Amino acid sequence: MSALVLDGKALAAQWEQQLSERVAGLKEKSNGKTPILATILVGADPASATYVKMKGNACRRIGMESMAVELGEETTTEQLLAKITELNENPDVHGILLQHPVPEQVDERACFDAIALEKDVDGVTCLGYGRMAMGEEAYGCATPKGIMRILEHYKIEIEGKHAVVVGRSPILGKPMSAMLLEANATVTTCHSRTQKLPELIKQADIVVGAVGRPEFIKSEWIKDGAVVVDAGYHPGGVGDIELGGVIDRCAAYTPVPGGVGPMTINTLIFQSVASGEKSLG
Ligand code: NAP
Repeated sequence: MSALVLDGKALAAQWEQQLSERVAGLKEKSNGKTPILATILVGADPASATYVKMKGNACRRIGMESMAVELGEETTTEQLLAKITELNENPDVHGILLQHPVPEQVDERACFDAIALEKDVDGVTCLGYGRMAMGEEAYGCATPKGIMRILEHYKIEIEGKHAVVVGRSPILGKPMSAMLLEANATVTTCHSRTQKLPELIKQADIVVGAVGRPEFIKSEWIKDGAVVVDAGYHPGGVGDIELGGVIDRCAAYTPVPGGVGPMTINTLIFQSVASGEKSLG
């Protein structure tokens, strides 16, 4: 069997082209204004700094502006909440990204939830999650939404299929399960207390690896013909799934790197442009 490669990198590049055109159109209509994504980096974690930089670069590539807000390692919850309120009230800002994780003295959930729903383009608020899970309009959480966009683009059948999501974090596993359920999959969500994980994965038509451990999901746990989505990325270019033993017998898979990762940033800018269009367009 020759598996379909769910090429997130190529898709993101293709969609960036379309987004550039939409931003150019908005600029023409609104006297040179573009959507603006405010990115907030708290502290000096190098990986977070790199992610924020990549997000700013993606904005630049499509001709839209970003506003980089950098706060010190000692920032308090109150200070971060005050900054988020200021950005919520700034009519020139159309999207707010608070880079996760924040230093431990900060109440991350309170800060995520302070982001106004209409500017929650990274899909991190409880309200946005709840609305999405109820099938109401809301920006989806960027990584799982990016995965849904890849699956939709490649016309992967979801309805009626058994999807097994390994991981239940607020930014990935939980919203992933809710999105697949909304798309009429039958969903099993697994976590660190799940029993008989290999047996559950063996039943999956669609497997999503969101565990955060290199090659934790073994290829022999995955049945022939499954769709394999690997959200993980670890040093050495491996994900959360042992892909090597499955790519010649699955129906489709996201490569690592070049699968889910590029679609996360693309979804963030896609939703920022959509938000900009609502107020500028
Ligand atoms: P996380 O917050 O650490 O969550 C990991 C999840 O895996 C938890 O729900 C945990 O269960 C579960 N888990 C841990 N050990 C397990 C085990 N032995 N058996 C079954 N489940 C287990 O991680 P995350 O933020 O969701 O990220 C997951 C992965 O996705 C990471 O590799 C990360 O790098 C990647 N990621 C990629 C992107 C991207 O843009 N490509 C974005 C975000 C994350 P409990 O809830 O029971 O602890």
